[in-house]
Amino acid sequence: MRVGVFALQGDVREHLQLLTSLGVESIEVRNAEQLATVDGLIIPGGESTTISKLIDIFGLRDDLLEYISSGNPVYGTCAGMIMLASEVLDAASGQQSLKVMDISVRRNAFGSQLDSFEASIEFAGRTVDAAFIRAPIVERVGEQVQVLSKLLSGAIVAVRQGSLLATSFHPELTGDSAVHEYFLGMISKSH
Ligand code: GLN
Repeated sequence: MRVGVFALQGDVREHLQLLTSLGVESIEVRNAEQLATVDGLIIPGGESTTISKLIDIFGLRDDLLEYISSGNPVYGTCAGMIMLASEVLDAASGQQSLKVMDISVRRNAFGSQLDSFEASIEFAGRTVDAAFIRAPIVERVGEQVQVLSKLLSGAIVAVRQGSLLATSFHPELTGDSAVHEYFLGMISKSH
């Protein structure tokens, strides 16, 4: 199995390190040729407006959409979650998500007081140490979308729709491997 980390912008290295610690081959993906060689793709956290613009500058939007519609598993963390969403609330001007998951997400949803925080949350039967950094919240989920984690406030922070997985938080920054192991399970089942 080989996993790609979409590497135009964001915390790419932390995902690669976590995958390596799990004994999984991983590569940085910056073009269509590299994308074609990976069994699953992680879109990291970073800044979704920047990632959206770089996708178009590098001409990768159609390649990503084709990769996803072929059923390849994709996991988006934080800005990566925003990139997968069908609707982005408080989007920056010119920001275009991929619109492949039936969710509405609000950017920077925790406000300045809670800009960044860590929390222990339940995820698919496990407890995960999660870092939230100017994180989005899922405000609406479509019928096909499964909610995998909520905060005590009720805010939805992890969702799955078929081969797509998204979390508001960054498990790779706390080094907690539970979500990555879950994603690797999705890849194993899909190939
Ligand atoms: N606030 C960022 C955005 O809107 C996401 C932050 C993150 O990925 N940690 O893209």
